[in-house]
Amino acid sequence: MKKIKNIAIVGGTHGNEYTGAYLIRQMAQNSFQEQWAELNIELIMANPQAYKKGLRFIDYDLNRSFTKAALADFSLSGYEANRAKALMQKLGSKENPKMDFIMDMHTTTSNMGITIILADNNDYNFKLAAYIQTQIPECYIYYMPAESTMHSTEHCFLIAMAPLGLAIEIGAIPNGVIRHDINKKTQQVIDITLDFINQTNKGCLPKINNPVTVFKHKKTVDYPVDSTGEINAIIHQDLQDRDYQKLTKGDAIFSTIEEQTITYNEDEDLYPVFINEAAYYYKKTAFSLTEKIMVKNTLN
Ligand SMILES: [Zn+2]
Repeated sequence: MKKIKNIAIVGGTHGNEYTGAYLIRQMAQNSFQEQWAELNIELIMANPQAYKKGLRFIDYDLNRSFTKAALADFSLSGYEANRAKALMQKLGSKENPKMDFIMDMHTTTSNMGITIILADNNDYNFKLAAYIQTQIPECYIYYMPAESTMHSTEHCFLIAMAPLGLAIEIGAIPNGVIRHDINKKTQQVIDITLDFINQTNKGCLPKINNPVTVFKHKKTVDYPVDSTGEINAIIHQDLQDRDYQKLTKGDAIFSTIEEQTITYNEDEDLYPVFINEAAYYYKKTAFSLTEKIMVKNTLN
């Protein structure tokens, strides 16, 4: 396998997720590159304008802006449409990437602990995620194949700008807040990832979990709305904070404005994530559902 040399570590893709933005500054000040002399590391503050204003984005979600069509469309207006093209100068295009690997740091208001998000079924990415799990047993692996998301054939995420990579999603933490413990956990995932890359570059595959438990994205669930389209229910207290815990038919999921309970009504047991994520209210998304699968690391 080709050596992984050029690595982008990205923070502030969502401007109100301060953990990544802070860690980018911290790594830049602490001569982080010198600790990883065999690798070329680019530290990138992805959405500086949104960060300055403490907003997720100015005009459009930057982490939904990386489709080939959007990157090629110069008639698109708005800060993030331009910012995505500016980032392409550093990251290269999808056809001709400059980076071998991208790590993008995010936080969530949902109780998702340490989550590694994988955007494709690349074998290396799964091995890396499995390795992170051997080092941090409580971390979750959340797999979002392109066909399960809104852009059915192609990912719009920033990490899709390199052949390999992952997003780190840690919570629960409010937007606009920095916590020492969450900084530490995020940095730990970065360090473990770079260590794995270094080891595999030298031709050794560290010991990893096999098979590995993966939560595969299935769909999102919207809040109930009234006749004017306004949300008229909240996440039920029995569902709140129960990310990655099995949902079975009959379990309470919403409490309506009339204090009626709405229950999960599907025959299949699924696993909710992004429960009560603040950033998704504007889309009226209440949570996502995943299926729990086992993935075998075949080359192990
Ligand atoms: Zn984010």
